[in-house]
Amino acid sequence: MIKLPKDKIFNNEFITTYQQNVKDFVFHKRGGINFFHHSFSADEISSGELINCISMDPFSRDGLNSKNEYFLKDYYEFSNFLLYSNHYLNIIKTQFTIKKGSNYKKNLMNERVFIINKFRRNDILKHLGIDNPSITKNEKNYLEFHNKIKGEFKRNNANIAKLFDYNDFMRSQDNIRNNILENIKVIICPYCNRQYIDIYSYEGKVKSIAQIDHFFPKSIFPLYSLSLLNFVPSCSHCNCIIKKDKLFPWVSVYANNPLDEKYFYVNYHNVNGLYGDTNSFNLRISPQKKEDINNSIFFRHQEIYENHKDEVSVLLKKRLIFNEGYKNSIEQLLSNKITEHEFKFMIFGVTGNDSDYLTIPLSKLKNDILKS
Ligand SMILES: [Zn+2]
Repeated sequence: MIKLPKDKIFNNEFITTYQQNVKDFVFHKRGGINFFHHSFSADEISSGELINCISMDPFSRDGLNSKNEYFLKDYYEFSNFLLYSNHYLNIIKTQFTIKKGSNYKKNLMNERVFIINKFRRNDILKHLGIDNPSITKNEKNYLEFHNKIKGEFKRNNANIAKLFDYNDFMRSQDNIRNNILENIKVIICPYCNRQYIDIYSYEGKVKSIAQIDHFFPKSIFPLYSLSLLNFVPSCSHCNCIIKKDKLFPWVSVYANNPLDEKYFYVNYHNVNGLYGDTNSFNLRISPQKKEDINNSIFFRHQEIYENHKDEVSVLLKKRLIFNEGYKNSIEQLLSNKITEHEFKFMIFGVTGNDSDYLTIPLSKLKNDILKS
């Protein structure tokens, strides 16, 4: 639900130390990478820009030499094909309410064609037969192709999984898991924006109650096992009960400049709804982008946020009572001006800024409703 701004996550000093640690770890393993036609020796991987990129952000690939760029691009496209394809197989079908008839079949066919067209320019997928027109004809053919690609990907990942062994790496570094979480500086789960994921200090050591979710699951995409921008701090409900190792309908949780798009809406049945009567309004989740719609279904936000109708009710009541006139009277009392953000925070517990999403639970719900 919440996108994390890339530039506000991790400081440079932490990134440099982390990259060096991953470099030492991989070099110590002395293995190489073979991924389809791509091949790297142990020296090539750990000598600099490739490992720096993999350990931080293998998804944007800025300023790499062409050999490294080509390999990471192929790996990313392959990963994304599996992500989209799995998403089609597991989620998209549930979105069509009428599950019979020619429209249903046509919609599914369109989705298959969309996915195949999106990835058909990739050289490896081309070599594995993505251009074969029979793939999109029916479910059976599509599933066969999907499974073939998944199998090939897994086979080609075997030595990569040995090199980028997350559990081994975590064991080899002192308290690294908690240090990573401390550096991400997000204390509310970005998947639900409800639960705290506290970081704290105990007997001189950083501790946390957060989980580190691998956005691209490490069991399927081992190249991203140690990538900082593949780590998402999350609550145990979102990570262990809902997401687990499933593939996820977003492309990433991190973005350069995340747009704050409206997610929550209130539908009033009658005037009592405006006064916060919980029987007189509906809380509706209606994102604009397809990937956000998929995300809301995936994390069951509509169902889970039903539990917060009482909070919405209080918010609606407060909005009526604590209006501009109230703000003026407080300012007179204090003989001081209060900014709009300060006033909002005093009354509603949110400032209205995007930064709320990283530190205040239910801030997305509250900000969206206050904007309406
Ligand atoms: Zn959560």
